Amino acid sequence: MTTRSLAIIGGGISGLSAAFWFKQRTSFPVTLLEAGSRWGGVLHTRKWKNLPVEMSADTFDAGGGAVLELCERLGLGSGLVPHEPFFSGLFLKGKNHMSPVPFSGSILKSGALSLRAKMRILSEPFIPSSEKDSGESLAGFIRRRLGASFLREIAGPVIRGVIMAEPEELSARYYLPQWVNAEKRFGSLAREVFLKTGTKKEGKKVFSVRNGLECLIEKTVESLSAYHLCLDSSVSAVEKRKDGWRLTLKDGGSLMADSVILAMPAPEAARLLAGYSGSLARKLSQIRYDLVMTLAMIFPAQGLPEELLGTGFVVPAPGSVWPFSSLKLIGKDESGEWVRMKAFISGVFQKEMFPKIDGDVTAAILNTIKKEWRIPDPVWTSLERYREAIPQYAPDYPRKIGALNDEVSRHPGLFLTGNGYGGFGISECVRSAFMTARHASEYLKHL
Ligand SMILES: Cc1cc2nc3c(=O)[nH]c(=O)nc-3n(C[C@H](O)[C@H](O)[C@H](O)COP(=O)(O)OP(=O)(O)OC[C@H]3O[C@@H](n4cnc5c(N)ncnc54)[C@H](O)[C@@H]3O)c2cc1C
Repeated sequence: MTTRSLAIIGGGISGLSAAFWFKQRTSFPVTLLEAGSRWGGVLHTRKWKNLPVEMSADTFDAGGGAVLELCERLGLGSGLVPHEPFFSGLFLKGKNHMSPVPFSGSILKSGALSLRAKMRILSEPFIPSSEKDSGESLAGFIRRRLGASFLREIAGPVIRGVIMAEPEELSARYYLPQWVNAEKRFGSLAREVFLKTGTKKEGKKVFSVRNGLECLIEKTVESLSAYHLCLDSSVSAVEKRKDGWRLTLKDGGSLMADSVILAMPAPEAARLLAGYSGSLARKLSQIRYDLVMTLAMIFPAQGLPEELLGTGFVVPAPGSVWPFSSLKLIGKDESGEWVRMKAFISGVFQKEMFPKIDGDVTAAILNTIKKEWRIPDPVWTSLERYREAIPQYAPDYPRKIGALNDEVSRHPGLFLTGNGYGGFGISECVRSAFMTARHASEYLKHL
């Protein structure tokens, strides 16, 4: 019997997790091709004096458990550091103060919310439920249930700051599934969201990796040593032939495999498949990704205002304009001496920053931070640019992803995984990669 083979294109966390699943559960030979000269994709840890600094993701939630399973099996379980849930640390920065934004009953005490907005929130249980089950925007859902003032004063600035997109252009079902389900089940958000007092931290625990997410990447790659692992191997086209899937490499080489997993942002998958199926490529290119930059910074903890020493996201209050969308407070390092922060610059809201050289972007961001908090210069900064890194799930995303999945199922042996297909967090990428790998292995077994 001939051995069936798999090729995985993309060595980010999605491609590596799919390969890991195969290694643990099958004996099929796997080739993993990565265009760049290092593994990990957008996950990238830099170091300053041995202090790890994440350039993109810092933490991940446990999700359905797949990412924790990956860490445990790699022996990284004791290196995971638990943090408070994501929603426990959101702040609006006004002229003279920083207001916490609790997404719970305590929001009614928030100074960031007008009396009018509070009164409207109190009427939420009497608002009839919508019959719509998909296609509603985040803005539409929030305005309908909680009022335009809440959207304008708090939800809008938080969504623009953290998700880096207009709330009108995002799917309620994908970004607020808990709230959408609460409306469906109880006819109101009161019980699920606003009757929670906010004193108890709600939501999923999140984790960081003590020595940086790069450890997760390195350990995963080590576990795959029996596979054919190829860096600097950019694939330019993928097409179905009579005898399997043919991958053409940018350097002119080619490779045949019985099955192929594309583990990369959807627009890049569209480019690879354009010559093979225009219709598939069109559906993939409809999943929108935007430009993002991050500026990682390290400050001495001594002398920084207390409000900058914790963890969470700070976004500008309505009326303030910053050259970045949000500031992520990562907290003190283990020695207590240093504080890490990261500014996110959005291709939607800070377009004018992208043509600038790194030094000018850094200077513009630091000027704003220093003006807002009157703090000294950081001891270290590093800027990273991402072309297609974070997908924006539009209100019609559920319909588009359904059509895409239908079409992919008509190309046996071809599989897609990555952050464009149902969840962009690390935990969702790992979960979806495990599931995709299982489907690919079923396919190979039955060939
Ligand atoms: C700034 C930022 C902050 C984030 N923060 C968080 C966070 O705090 N928590 C969280 O859970 N998630 C976060 N995320 C999301 C999460 O990190 C990503 O969704 C996830 O890492 C994506 O992994 P991936 O493997 O699907 O894609 P990628 O990391 O993009 O990997 C795709 C890989 O495919 C390769 N590739 C592309 N084209 C080709 C080709 N033609 N041939 C060969 N190889 C190719 C690329 O070089 C790349 O290495 C963040 C993302 C960003 C950008």
